Amino acid sequence: MEKAMFCRQCEQAAQGVGCEVMGNCGKNPQVAALLDLMIHGLEGVAVYAHRARELGAKDPEVDRFMLDGLFTRVTNVNFDPEDIAGRLRRCYQMKEQARSLFEKAYQERKGRSLRSSIAGLRHGSLREIRQG
Ligand code: SF4
Repeated sequence: MEKAMFCRQCEQAAQGVGCEVMGNCGKNPQVAALLDLMIHGLEGVAVYAHRARELGAKDPEVDRFMLDGLFTRVTNVNFDPEDIAGRLRRCYQMKEQARSLFEKAYQERKGRSLRSSIAGLRHGSLREIRQG
């Protein structure tokens, strides 16, 4: 049987395993799903921001958003689905901003675009792209 939600984020998890119908904290399945999406979105932001930083580029707006996004996820203080949906839309914007930052830094450091590096890759690995 499909569960309405699954969250094991905190020590209040139902039966010490996870909340599956409604959170003991009051989180409902809709909010749980939105917050799960927020984590996936933040992973995307983090990948690009981390790779950009390895190339010497950073964006304080992206960094601040990461903190704000994680705070949204890890604290049980905001169960407003509209507000969380707005933060998700902002998360997508930040992911695109971080991607642009990474691609620009890649171009500057490697002297070619990331796209051209990928296009020229036949039997190589992602490691080759990173090492240029
Ligand atoms: S955060 Fe809420 S829904 Fe998640 S495990 Fe804790 S009590 Fe359950």
